[in-house]
Amino acid sequence: MKVLFVKSITVFATILLLAACQTDEAPQPLKPAPDMKVEVGTDPHSFAEYEKVQISHMTLDLDADMSRRTLSGHVVLDLERPEPGFQRLVLDTRDLDIHDVNAIDPDGDFLPVSWHLGKDHGHLGRPLVIVLPQGISQVRIDYSSRPEAFGLQWLDAEQTSSGRPFMFSQSQPHYARTWVPLQDTPAVRYTFDATVRGPRDLMVVMGADGNLFELNATGEYHFHMPEPIPSYLMAIAIGDLEFAEIGPRSGVYAEPQWIGPAAEEFDVLEEMIDIGENLYGPYRWGRYDLLVLPPSFPFGGMENPRLSYVTPTIIAGDGSLLALVAHELAHSWSGNLVTNAAWRDLWLNEGFTVYFEARIMEALYGAEIRDQLAKLAWDGLQDTLAQADPRDRQLVRDLSDRDPEQAFMRVPYDMGRFFLDWLEDRFGRETFDAFLREYFDHFAFESITSEDFRDYAREHLVEAHPGRVSMDEIDEWLYEPGMPEFAIAPESDAFEQVDDWGERWLAGDIELDELPVEDWSVHQWRHFLIGLENKLDAETMMAMDNEFALVEQQNYEILFLWLMRAIEAEYEPGIERLEQFLLEVGRNKFTRPLYASLAESDWGRDWAVEVYERARPGYHPLTRQAAERALGLSEE
Ligand SMILES: [Zn+2]
Repeated sequence: MKVLFVKSITVFATILLLAACQTDEAPQPLKPAPDMKVEVGTDPHSFAEYEKVQISHMTLDLDADMSRRTLSGHVVLDLERPEPGFQRLVLDTRDLDIHDVNAIDPDGDFLPVSWHLGKDHGHLGRPLVIVLPQGISQVRIDYSSRPEAFGLQWLDAEQTSSGRPFMFSQSQPHYARTWVPLQDTPAVRYTFDATVRGPRDLMVVMGADGNLFELNATGEYHFHMPEPIPSYLMAIAIGDLEFAEIGPRSGVYAEPQWIGPAAEEFDVLEEMIDIGENLYGPYRWGRYDLLVLPPSFPFGGMENPRLSYVTPTIIAGDGSLLALVAHELAHSWSGNLVTNAAWRDLWLNEGFTVYFEARIMEALYGAEIRDQLAKLAWDGLQDTLAQADPRDRQLVRDLSDRDPEQAFMRVPYDMGRFFLDWLEDRFGRETFDAFLREYFDHFAFESITSEDFRDYAREHLVEAHPGRVSMDEIDEWLYEPGMPEFAIAPESDAFEQVDDWGERWLAGDIELDELPVEDWSVHQWRHFLIGLENKLDAETMMAMDNEFALVEQQNYEILFLWLMRAIEAEYEPGIERLEQFLLEVGRNKFTRPLYASLAESDWGRDWAVEVYERARPGYHPLTRQAAERALGLSEE
């Protein structure tokens, strides 16, 4: 499947002029579109027919009602019409109440148009089909979101650490359509303006220019996004937020009790931006701020441009989990600047980002930490590949009849990264860096397919530097299942030392207090605890807790692994901590495997279901979905 995408802005400019000429005539009278039946478009996860008509800019005007859990108001869509005679606009919607649709003529007058919502297609939602008179290039839709909108989480006062209500969006991969009617495909990019009114005592922020550093007493906020973005990067949040500056163009927003620790934890942010620029060219988004969300945020982070979202579970007190911040920042180039045209091409977005993240970590903390992180990723990827559906063991995957949520597994991330590691090794770092820099420039603010990358790499790498890599080898990475045999496995001396110590301890040759843990990095600890899978009993875990107090860990990565071991060993103090953990944290990376492991254990499923029922009101819809699948409460 090849996604067609109109890349040339000049083509659009010409078409716009044509359209403008045609608007000199009166818009055509209302008539129903010849065929109102709508199929999914070129992107199998969107109904948008974007080769024929495409959103170029949107203007949002929304009221946020925290108690009714709705966003309501209107959006004005500016359209480019590559096929001026094509007389309908199909938008993606899911669980939206559409109140009115009007065309706006070139004089700014409203023109009622006929429209209807098509049938419900489950996670794809319902197409909104609008008859589009000739010469019209603006449409206004009055609508409201529903409390159950999948892309928005509304938290009550008692579900946040500030004790005040909170709302945040998660639009990736295809949930923007649950809060804005739009062409919800990464193939389309647009700029936007927004006015949002919220409660006077809460701050509204968006992934855009215009975020304030303090509360606006009127409750009204204005935003402008000058760089074109795909819909999955639309982001809004409302809460009791404070701001702390980190550098001249960077800072952090968080609820009051997180703001101090967050500002300390992320104090290298400005330095990270400098490293990114040195590697791959200018940061093109103005400011870069972070927003710390409540612990129910289902992901580690989300790369919303200008304002990336992060989970508070990376605030470890020692900066040891900052790879995640490096990752979200790296997306400012890989993904936000050059993104995948459809979700089958997600590796172009995430694989590049994991590679870039590793380069930032190396520049900040050295090659040893980079290697430890690479080895953790490699080992995790081997497990994933061993268990994954055969369709999911390669970089370019057919997702056409599946929920694009399923794109998000380790393969596009880590296998994509090891593909780029391999290219770097074959061509040398200098050549490969120069290639990447050119690549980001060449495709800046575009959405591309794996085949676009392949063609570009053929010309600028393979043929420009002959004898290093063949196209057959590249195609093996892209289209063949599993890791190619010629992939390069990372090695870590530090992990080998941990393995040696671990074996001696398990064999009874040394005591716990002889393990040299004071020298271990967080990642060595992670490697150690992963290696102890199914090897501990409750008594040993108690002895380890007496020595290392793992059950009281503030580092969530270590704590998570300790809780996984506690489930296997049915270790009581760990189970008590686990209950508290599941009630507090909704990050899927942790909750999904914990629930899955409980469901598989011979003692834990009923207990897990009972804990889940209590935790559920505080979970994001995505966390609920994953937990229910893990517990066998809903279908895959
Ligand atoms: Zn990412």
